[in-house]
Amino acid sequence: MQKVKEKFFWFLTGSQGLYGEETLKQVVSNSKVIVEELNKGGMLPRKLLFKPVLTTPQQIKRTMEEAVSDEGCAGVVCWMHTFSPAKMWIGGLSLLNKPLLHLHTQFNERLPYESIDMDFMNLNQSAHGDREFGHITARMNIPRTVIAGHWSHKSTQSRIALWMRSALAVDESRNLIIARFGDNMREVAVTDGDKVEAQIQLGWSVPTYAIGDLVNYREKVATSDVDSMIDLYKERYDFSYSDEEYFYKHTRDQARTEIALEQLLDDIGATAFSTNFQDLYGMEQLPGLAVQNLMAKGYGFGGEGDWKTAGMVRLLKVMGEGLKGGASFMEDYTYHLEEGNMLNLGAHMLEICPSIARDKPTIEVHPLSIGEREDPARLVFTGRSGKAIVTAIVDMGSRFRIVLNEIEAIDPPKGFEKLPVARVLWRPLPNLVTASEAWILAGGGHHTAYSDGVTAEYIRNFAEMMQIEFVEINSETTIPKFRNELRYSEGYWGRQ
Ligand code: MN
Repeated sequence: MQKVKEKFFWFLTGSQGLYGEETLKQVVSNSKVIVEELNKGGMLPRKLLFKPVLTTPQQIKRTMEEAVSDEGCAGVVCWMHTFSPAKMWIGGLSLLNKPLLHLHTQFNERLPYESIDMDFMNLNQSAHGDREFGHITARMNIPRTVIAGHWSHKSTQSRIALWMRSALAVDESRNLIIARFGDNMREVAVTDGDKVEAQIQLGWSVPTYAIGDLVNYREKVATSDVDSMIDLYKERYDFSYSDEEYFYKHTRDQARTEIALEQLLDDIGATAFSTNFQDLYGMEQLPGLAVQNLMAKGYGFGGEGDWKTAGMVRLLKVMGEGLKGGASFMEDYTYHLEEGNMLNLGAHMLEICPSIARDKPTIEVHPLSIGEREDPARLVFTGRSGKAIVTAIVDMGSRFRIVLNEIEAIDPPKGFEKLPVARVLWRPLPNLVTASEAWILAGGGHHTAYSDGVTAEYIRNFAEMMQIEFVEINSETTIPKFRNELRYSEGYWGRQ
């Protein structure tokens, strides 16, 4: 995957000239301490950069202009150490188009009961300075996250880290290229959508490439590179076969496709892609193992031309980078409807990412009933148990809507010995009946982006920053409340 420019977050401290030089010096040094300590805390995924304390409208405007034009700046954190009259911020804030975190903190953790005097009171004024700043961001309706708490606390730092990860996904979203090999599956509604609107609202560029382009790349792949890829598969995965020649022929074909796909994606700068089994002319197999291993490297993917889910999978990969857990393309496949113990079995015809595997995956070759190609090699495994989310982005015609369900993946009570694909068994929250009724009422599709690395809060933050409708199904959901939520949401977003 192509390397992107290193990203930073800017730390902007607000004040004013009224207090005199001594106080401002103290503001600068306190602010530097906070930035240094937050960076040293080890929780933030990217570094905070200290920027000069802001005391005039001109300075604020210039700094925001720089933040907007600096490709390396993924967002700004604002904190008012003292009072900072907020009319000064209007010019700068009106230019800001990057994620904003309003950090409501204070340098001192505790009141110095014995020594407190008016100098201390004037220096440590975020309690009212941040309310002034909050007023102007509310009045200007600036997309923002507000985090309150002492900066030294782990609970505060972990929330800043989470916000940063959502902001990194915003940055990725605005630069995302999703390559489509083949169009949307014929007659399918939910996987399709308005690509122009996706570029306007989400920043996604969704160009199409002929499957013949991929076939050309495949022809140029060196045999020695296929050998190396097979060695890599051997390190990562178990091999299962009865006919060695047949197995290697089919697995090598996937290795060739993987190398070609990665080369092509990197040449065009794409970090996500979709395929369609109806458009495979010149290919020997539907890409299976190739897609699975590319997802493990961080690429987003959606099957049947589903570029929207491909984009979401990529964003989950960006948010969860370096965290425990993984992210994958997923499909609601079939149910276990035993009363009191209802479960959802998620899988796809091939393409589930091994980053969510419980055990070492196995490469197997089996026939595929659709696609009219040779038997594809694929990774077979069972998903890890534990808390996870499934999320989908759908095109509602006038807007995009993100639907999310919190779920609990479980260890299957029995093996799936005859199932030739990767799968995950889960219990949706609050339960399958309510969760699936709510999902269907919200118009969520059968394809989702699955993650056991990030939580609903990451996606909620992302949706807030991008100004995209977001509806969530979790342990608190009831159908009457959810129906009303959809109605309120329609009232708000339908007007946009
Ligand atoms: Mn599908």
